[in-house]
Amino acid sequence: MVDDCLFCKIISGSIPSDMIYQDDQIVVFKDINPKAEVHLLVVPKEHFESLNEMQPQHDAVMAHSLRMLPVLAKQQGLDTGFRTIINTGKGGGQVVFHLHIHLLGGSSLAGF
Ligand code: AMP
Ligand code: ZN
Repeated sequence: MVDDCLFCKIISGSIPSDMIYQDDQIVVFKDINPKAEVHLLVVPKEHFESLNEMQPQHDAVMAHSLRMLPVLAKQQGLDTGFRTIINTGKGGGQVVFHLHIHLLGGSSLAGF
């Protein structure tokens, strides 16, 4: 838990979110400013800033997060597919510096 981290505060419950799934390793909640019909954020409970700071100790939670993506997509009715994005660093468009995976899908998803 990092005091000034928005997603740590969501994980601890001190800031509300539209949480749709959580387990011992990750939380999943709806993005507050959705860029597609379905836009979820898959967030490791352990704070690390980005892929730049990923260490071997994070391998398990990252593998778990990836394996949860198709499960979550199916739960959201994304039967024809989905998109994932990990923004890394300011140059990669990251604004919240607690690693998260965007899960996007639905009819409003534009071409890439
Ligand atoms: P990124 O640019 O990859 O750091 O994405 C951060 C994402 O967090 C953006 O898509 C924001 O819309 C989203 N976001 C910011 N604040 C909140 C919040 N309180 N609850 C849910 N999503 C948020
Ligand atoms: Zn954090």
